[in-house]
Amino acid sequence: MPRHAAIAARLTVPGHAAFAARLAALVLLLGIWPLGDLPAEETTSWRSRTIDAAAGSPSPAPGSPDGPGAGQEGAPKGGGAKPGKPPAPRPKIGPHGTRRLTGVSAVALTFDDGPHPTWTPKILEQLRTQQVKATFCLVGTRVRKNPELVAQIVREGHTLCNHSWAHDLRLGKKPEAQIRADLDQTNREIRRAVPGVRIPFYRQPGGEWTPSVVHVAKALGMVPLHWDVDPRDWDKPGAPLITKRISTTTRSGSIVLLHDGGGDRSATLAACPAVIGELKRRYGVTLLK
Ligand SMILES: [Zn+2]
Repeated sequence: MPRHAAIAARLTVPGHAAFAARLAALVLLLGIWPLGDLPAEETTSWRSRTIDAAAGSPSPAPGSPDGPGAGQEGAPKGGGAKPGKPPAPRPKIGPHGTRRLTGVSAVALTFDDGPHPTWTPKILEQLRTQQVKATFCLVGTRVRKNPELVAQIVREGHTLCNHSWAHDLRLGKKPEAQIRADLDQTNREIRRAVPGVRIPFYRQPGGEWTPSVVHVAKALGMVPLHWDVDPRDWDKPGAPLITKRISTTTRSGSIVLLHDGGGDRSATLAACPAVIGELKRRYGVTLLK
């Protein structure tokens, strides 16, 4: 029996077998356990977290998490691997052939969902202090509001990644023409901030890749960029746990997902000195190109 149906059956008391069977059948029929297997905060905010492209204004969820989606892989739950126990083997390629590793022994840092007027400058300062470069996955509507931050990111030697116009988690399921228009609009907005700048990567919001969105990104000359390590910093676990999750799950060549936008990033910022210091010592930090 599929897991969800089994759970439905277990949740009902003996003696109500007929009801349990009906509930299980209903779950099977719907094809879902209500709201999937996601924690409540993720589901409420992810599902509502697109931005009205027409109005160009964010949905009213300023403190909501961003980024990693239901399809994420390799995300540590509860702090990662236990000491002495080797982590389960992880794939070298992301969903639908997307990039998951740097291709060298050094690891790479990526920051999603900015630019943000409060947090992006502080993250940039951390990177400057530690003398490392990162990739910033930019949301078009936020580029429109903060073009000077895009210019600063580029001026300081970091790499850009298109992260869609309005962080639409379902973008990959739309017709290819619509996907192309979204990615094009985002690239145009980025280049309005920094004329002619290279945008070598595209990252699908929530990691909700589809063959269509991978195809369009490639057709527009962008490498579809997934990640290997997701400390779930958007869930505000606190700096020590972010640091621990990265420390226990990063391997040689990992691409690490972090966030400079999409809400209060104080924990991510506070984790940066220890995280970046450790990654530099253990692997080296490289810039994706
Ligand atoms: Zn995101």
